[in-house]
Amino acid sequence: LPEAAVEALQPADVAALVPRPGGDAQKYSRGVVGVRAGSETYPGAALLCVAGASCGLVGMVRYVGHAADAVRSTHPEVVGDGRVQAWVVGPGGGDEAGEALAAALADSVPVVVDADALSHVGAPLAVPAVLTPHAGELAAMLGADRTEIEARPLHFARRAAEAYDTVVLLKGRRTLVARPDGRVRVTTTGVPWLATAGAGDVLAGLVGALLAAGLSPWDAASVGSWLHGAAATEASAGGPIVARDVAHALGGVLRSLI
Ligand code: AMP
Ligand code: MG
Repeated sequence: LPEAAVEALQPADVAALVPRPGGDAQKYSRGVVGVRAGSETYPGAALLCVAGASCGLVGMVRYVGHAADAVRSTHPEVVGDGRVQAWVVGPGGGDEAGEALAAALADSVPVVVDADALSHVGAPLAVPAVLTPHAGELAAMLGADRTEIEARPLHFARRAAEAYDTVVLLKGRRTLVARPDGRVRVTTTGVPWLATAGAGDVLAGLVGALLAAGLSPWDAASVGSWLHGAAATEASAGGPIVARDVAHALGGVLRSLI
């Protein structure tokens, strides 16, 4: 399929889609996002995912999982289980990712499915969803080779969106957001320094927040990816970064955009 069929969001498009509180806003009306991430082995993924979700674009962030004590100490605003408008599942989930996905799906709200939860997705999901694989994760999902996917990312992103009948965000140098009908948005705001552990966990949290704030899976995935890349570029300023720097830079990117 021709490259021309691929769209790119412009800063003004992103600015128009970023949710803003109206005068009558209260924390629940702005959306509540829940994070089910982290395990005994990977508690840090929970903190990074919560950091991405805590971008200020929703009224509240909830966390359920093994890292609750650590989350409380680094993110005192974050609360425990309860009603949410969207769930993020999978970062650092390890062996418990399947149970976490089942628990999230039981709520019948939109979900972001990342990392260890991706292998537990049965097609099709009964709720609006964004799947956020990197090439290796997508290879496992489709029974393909990672190198094949890296060579033809557009083809495989579209194929996955069709097969799972949902929005697929394929991460990489150019991140592709594909819909089942074949439309694709590409994100090029990032930098190679973003290829660092935990970067994807921040992205999953951010996309979940945008879903909870009421964006469609398609807009949440493409706006989230755009902001994530821009925050990485801002934080990097030409030099090395770690994943938490990306989360910290989100506020500045949003401030300069809206
Ligand atoms: P994950 O593999 O889940 O940690 O996610 C990695 C993140 O880094 C994704 O947002 C990718 O799009 C991004 N990324 C990885 N490699 C590159 C690259 N070479 N240039 C730009 N972004 C990248
Ligand atoms: Mg990841």
